[in-house]
Amino acid sequence: MNTQILYGKPVAEHIFSGVRNRIEQLKAKGITPKLTVILVGDDPASMVYVSKKHKTCLELGMLSETISLPAETTQPDLSDYIRNLNLDPLNHGILVQSPLPAHIDEAVIVNAIDPAKDVDCFHPENVGRLVMGSPRFVPCTPGGIIEMLKYYSIETTGKHIVIIGRSNIVGKPMANLFVQKNRYGNAAVTVLHSQVPELKKFTQSADIIIAAIGKPLFVTAGMVKEGAIIIDVGINRIKADTKTGYRLVGDVDFEGVQNMVRAISPVPGGVGPLTIAVLMQNTVHAAALQNGISETF
Ligand code: NAD
Repeated sequence: MNTQILYGKPVAEHIFSGVRNRIEQLKAKGITPKLTVILVGDDPASMVYVSKKHKTCLELGMLSETISLPAETTQPDLSDYIRNLNLDPLNHGILVQSPLPAHIDEAVIVNAIDPAKDVDCFHPENVGRLVMGSPRFVPCTPGGIIEMLKYYSIETTGKHIVIIGRSNIVGKPMANLFVQKNRYGNAAVTVLHSQVPELKKFTQSADIIIAAIGKPLFVTAGMVKEGAIIIDVGINRIKADTKTGYRLVGDVDFEGVQNMVRAISPVPGGVGPLTIAVLMQNTVHAAALQNGISETF
């Protein structure tokens, strides 16, 4: 089969180019979108993610601030930082980098963020709006996957889409987007998770599989229908004979399924770069909304 590889880079560039235009339009009105990221503790992976977000904001001409707090920061102190950012009219987006230290309840922190500045789309109000079909923001990774499908002209209407994984970050919001009554929704959606036995009963009839499990090479050829489309969200390190001693693989056995599917996103180089692109899009959208500029999303 002539399999199409769904690279994320051109999709991300397409999103960034739209974001750049909107930043120019906002700047012409005296508004410079600003994202503030709060990092609690010194988890090395989180530090890399936060610095990437900061760099991307600056490259796009946005303002960016990182508030780095010690791991022993208390929940009330962290809530105070968020309250101040909620009140700052020059700050439009707030993101608290996860994971948070164990003594802090993520749900309490997400609730403390002004929903109008919740550019991760984690606040219950924004999740509710998404479910009801009138989203304020689009959740970053699932939104990036929709952008990928649009970019490669992959239709979802009437298709059976199987999502493996039910996290609040990927699986659940992804399902909510695919059941929306719009061009990149209108799908028959099945959500699978760790309590479902015999996943292949469902995956073998899937036109599109979204794998968001966090287990290397979990989806194998025997689970996949000929001609299906696979979006691999997973990012897993496995031991390898490389300089670093590991290599990154997705949740899908790419080599095993590659010749039987119509299209597949690689890991790395697929969904990876899209999350941050949608985060930037959400921040610009937040800046517009907070300045009374309404736009459809
Ligand atoms: P998570 O751990 O919160 O959720 C994993 C889900 O997989 C759970 O809902 C669980 O029920 C399901 N699962 C686990 N074992 C299973 C099994 N044996 N059978 C069926 N389902 C099973 O993870 P997450 O935050 O949703 O992330 C999933 C993966 O996607 C991770 O590898 C993560 O690194 C990656 N990720 C990538 C991006 C990106 O930007 N590309 C963004 C978010 C997450």
